[in-house]
Amino acid sequence: PVDRSPNIQEARLKLPILAEEQIIMEAIKHNPVVVVCGETGSGKTTQVPQFLYEAGYASGNGIIGITEPRRVAAISMSQRVATEMNLSHRIVSYQIRYEGNATEDTQIKFMTDGVLLKEVQRDFLLTKYKVVIIDEAHERSVYTDILIGLLSRIVPLREKKGQPMKLIIMSATLRVEDFTANKRLFPTPPPVVQVDARQFPVIVHFNKRTPLDDYAGETFRKVSKIHRMLPPGGILVFLTGQAEVHSMCRRLRRAFPYRPNSSVKEAVAAADDSVEAIKKFKKAKHKSNLPRINLDNYSAMPVDEGDEDREAGIDDEDGVGSDLDLDLGDDDSEEVTKFDPSIPLYVLPLYSLLAAEKQAKVFRSPPNGTRLCVVATNVAETSLTIPNIKYVVECGKVKKRFYDKVTGVSSFKITWISQASANQRAGRAGRTEPGHCYRLYSSAVFADFEKFSAAEITRRPVDDLVLQMKDLNIEKVINFPFPTSPSPESLIAAEELLISLGALEEPPKHGRFKELERAKLTCPITSLGRAMASFPVAPRYAKMLALSKQHDCMPYAIIIVSAMTVRELFEQLDRPAVSDEETEKLKRKKARISQMKWIWAGQGPSLKLGDVMVMLGAVGANEYAGCTTRFCTENGLRHKAMIEIRRLRGQLTNVVNAVFPEASLFVDPKMKPPTETQVMYLRQIVMAGLGDHIARKIQSEELLDGKWRNAYKTPLIDEPVFIHPNSVLFKHLPEFVVYQEIVESSKMYMKGLTSIESEWIP
Ligand code: ADP
Ligand code: MG
Repeated sequence: PVDRSPNIQEARLKLPILAEEQIIMEAIKHNPVVVVCGETGSGKTTQVPQFLYEAGYASGNGIIGITEPRRVAAISMSQRVATEMNLSHRIVSYQIRYEGNATEDTQIKFMTDGVLLKEVQRDFLLTKYKVVIIDEAHERSVYTDILIGLLSRIVPLREKKGQPMKLIIMSATLRVEDFTANKRLFPTPPPVVQVDARQFPVIVHFNKRTPLDDYAGETFRKVSKIHRMLPPGGILVFLTGQAEVHSMCRRLRRAFPYRPNSSVKEAVAAADDSVEAIKKFKKAKHKSNLPRINLDNYSAMPVDEGDEDREAGIDDEDGVGSDLDLDLGDDDSEEVTKFDPSIPLYVLPLYSLLAAEKQAKVFRSPPNGTRLCVVATNVAETSLTIPNIKYVVECGKVKKRFYDKVTGVSSFKITWISQASANQRAGRAGRTEPGHCYRLYSSAVFADFEKFSAAEITRRPVDDLVLQMKDLNIEKVINFPFPTSPSPESLIAAEELLISLGALEEPPKHGRFKELERAKLTCPITSLGRAMASFPVAPRYAKMLALSKQHDCMPYAIIIVSAMTVRELFEQLDRPAVSDEETEKLKRKKARISQMKWIWAGQGPSLKLGDVMVMLGAVGANEYAGCTTRFCTENGLRHKAMIEIRRLRGQLTNVVNAVFPEASLFVDPKMKPPTETQVMYLRQIVMAGLGDHIARKIQSEELLDGKWRNAYKTPLIDEPVFIHPNSVLFKHLPEFVVYQEIVESSKMYMKGLTSIESEWIP
């Protein structure tokens, strides 16, 4: 029996899902797989685990597991459910990569989807679990998709073994045909239980004009206006990333300061972020000089949990109309944005990496006499429901991960959201009463949005996934029951790359072409492949790391992999100058950068490591100098890139220590440059990862045409390619090089070069 406090009990009874408890539990009792659909905020995540617990699914020999695509949801939901049930976090726990509070006694475990996937690797039948709930399935994150595919096989296997398990797929939208109508996935379509939404009408206001890029400014003006002119009610603002969220919070706090001098308690609750940040920084500094890193955030991860790049694929329609009184128009008069201490605004940030105690603040009522304003990234779209929001202000943008076709390296870009996403955001305004959504773009722009965002798996290269699946001993990846399959071409490309990296066994060379192609998709994993699968970076970088255990090369390889993942260490100075003064400045900066590159690349043997040596030198020097803005500015380094590299370096160091405990690596801010021998090894290590990116200098006797002067030939491209003028090898023209990427401008240019020896080429 669960002993809930009266006010929790009361709040629960208001949730739409409570009315469906019996129907849901009956469906689960009679079916191995059940899909539960319900609008965000209906109570799926917090209540379904409790239903199961009360029905006895966690008693005896098995526990309830719930996966979330985002870390923030795993942590905050486990805490909420523990509170609601009056149980300790030893019983209701969470696990995210390298962090968690699960114990022997845990009966309800929230975790990221990546964590459960790793558990499948250790125990394919997931015998520990009586029930697995896949939450937020509508987000279609790659791990979630793969888990559903795996579980579709695990559930019948458990049945056969006489230890049946239940699978519950939960979605915030009704768009679940990819799970229910996919016969390969579930031959018997699972029943769908629909929780009635309790949604109030939301009036959508479009801007007449769409701001070109200053959507932050536009957001600020709109929030200011709402706060000055419209009736009470919380405001939820959608922006794209953590930095943007913070800067908006600062701006709003400056304009509408809230000074909690009335009570000490409130003052503590509202303690300014910056004060806390300074305190934390001081504490951290006191403890050690090493950079503090977040162990759970890899921008180089094959598929990562909890970044700001999740998008939803949703299809609910909210009322779109206009309401003259509340239509604030989109003029940008400064008048409304002036400093005004008379109407305090209680501003709170919300994003994935925000500390849990700060996240929890958004669920509490704002101090008396203030209006709540939550400035959030996409996490507020479906993962977390913030109470009492009446106004939504949304810029129509989202930060998404994009993949470089040539290198497979990923980067974040800000793009328009889908119509489904926009409607989901608007819906956040109608949870407790009728509300308003202000879209900072025109209806014409909205009409051009794509309807839904595609499942992540169709938008990215899949070499990392194929490697993970092979590590799970799924040899015929092409037969895997994906909810949405990646294209056969991308599977073949992935398999080919993995074979060339030595992660998969070579297919037999005989047979007709077609057979060969099919054979390619069934190649088993090698022991090198298994080692590579343990690193959270793209396979080519994992290979570099796996090889660099030798000759103490690992600390260097970690920097190289971090720097290659971040890319563009130096400031981009190819912009047109607006004044003579600026022209001079740019010229000086360019000269400085090329001078530093020469210094960092060094002479003789070390220069042969080329641009990779520059990466090592730049990171080394920057860390030695303390990674200050000043050092970066003076030397033309992008400070943001250097911080990102520092973060990744810390993370990878931890992973390597976890994979090879005997390595006992640490992040050394005063690292010595590699020795001559090590440089030789590092060149080979880099080549091992970029083995399909070899280029050979055209010899004079081969010069048929002037366009091949100083050009290189690569196996992949028929056109001549050239060394980029920014490369330190530009004037050297070594006979053989490997490159990180090719960019096309006036010519095809190779970047990120290392020279290699002809005898190394197989
Ligand atoms: P769903 O999963 O269907 O989107 P949830 O179970 O996450 O719904 O949320 C149900 C309700 O619980 C919402 O009204 C939400 O505001 C509330 N809630 C969730 N977490 C907390 C929390 N930490 N504190 C207070 N209320 C919360
Ligand atoms: Mg939920």
